[in-house]
Amino acid sequence: MKSAGKTDIKSLVFAELLERLRNLGEPSYRASQITDWLYKKRVDTIDKMSNLPGPLRQRLSETFTLGKIDLVRVLGARDTTRKFLFRLADQNLIESVLIPASLALYGAKSDRRTICVSTQVGCAYGCKFCASGLEGFSRNLSPNEIIDQLIAVERATDEKIDNVVFMGMGEPLANLENVLAAIRIINAEWGLGIGARHITISTSGLAPQIRKLAEEPLQIRLAVSLHGATDEVRNRIMPINRRYNIETLLSACDYYKAHKKQHLTFEYILIADVNDSGKQAHLLSRHAQRLSAKVNLIPYNTVSGLPWTRPSERRQEEFLSILRSDRVPATLRREKGHDIDAACGQLRLQTEREARVAL
Ligand code: SAH
Ligand code: SF4
Repeated sequence: MKSAGKTDIKSLVFAELLERLRNLGEPSYRASQITDWLYKKRVDTIDKMSNLPGPLRQRLSETFTLGKIDLVRVLGARDTTRKFLFRLADQNLIESVLIPASLALYGAKSDRRTICVSTQVGCAYGCKFCASGLEGFSRNLSPNEIIDQLIAVERATDEKIDNVVFMGMGEPLANLENVLAAIRIINAEWGLGIGARHITISTSGLAPQIRKLAEEPLQIRLAVSLHGATDEVRNRIMPINRRYNIETLLSACDYYKAHKKQHLTFEYILIADVNDSGKQAHLLSRHAQRLSAKVNLIPYNTVSGLPWTRPSERRQEEFLSILRSDRVPATLRREKGHDIDAACGQLRLQTEREARVAL
């Protein structure tokens, strides 16, 4: 994040840091020393970088910020999903979710932990079922605020994170530049060292940005939040569909697939009497077949103040079996601890509502 015109040192990729150091007349090995302090030893002040000469530390402190995010609340226990609420330097709240191996999807192996990170404060896309969009959009997160979610959760839990999904608050493709900078740092050996195949971006369907992402060399995974197999259903719950309808979205996905030679995932929240009919299931199969995509079915988590509910378990299984009979690889998240597993955005909303009542 920039404060008073300063860049945060954790928002720079290696080449940028090198360039800045050269401008300060420093040798190039200083860049490795600094990234080592930031991402391996994880110091919280520039002053603690004890193998740098004092004048350089002084100079770096004048040139850059080294921000941090403050953990304000944790919900959940070790063997379930845990949610972490953070306060940013400007007092805005964001949240991250840590998903244990037993629940993890997206390429996660059995001993792996996945973190779901936020990319924006609030969200401008206003999907009708989502807590993140309810209070509107405040701002984009900077690369360091995204990375700090991983670092802070690892510090708080003493557990190593192996998978990252950009499925928290916000629309990652609407903050593409900062998200890509964060991903480069998360992925790099000099950074957090998490493989690109263990990083997934989820989008509600920003078709032009999907095409842009297709041209990026990073082999990250893409999940598309479909949630409806026809424009009629999607228009009802996702305003973005009026800008980029299903055909526009799917043809951007075709383009992505042709460039990346990689499997896509469709996310499909099951909402009772909205998108859970047999007809929607068959049409969803067709879209998935066109793209050789996998489908993740997610029973809807109720959001207080919103009218939607999840279908009965029987209905969920029926929907899944239609996809399976159409030979579409599909999973249904049958999670427990429904209250805590509530999707991202809800803890923040709840905390802000409580704060308002307390005033
Ligand atoms: N903006 C991006 C990423 C953040 S949302 C996107 O929409 O894809 C991450 C996922 O959580 C999306 O698939 C979103 O539709 C889903 N989601 C939002 N609210 C939910 C809820 N109440 N229950 C279940 N999933 C929800
Ligand atoms: Fe934004 Fe995604 Fe929520 Fe839609 S589902 S409002 S795009 S965070």
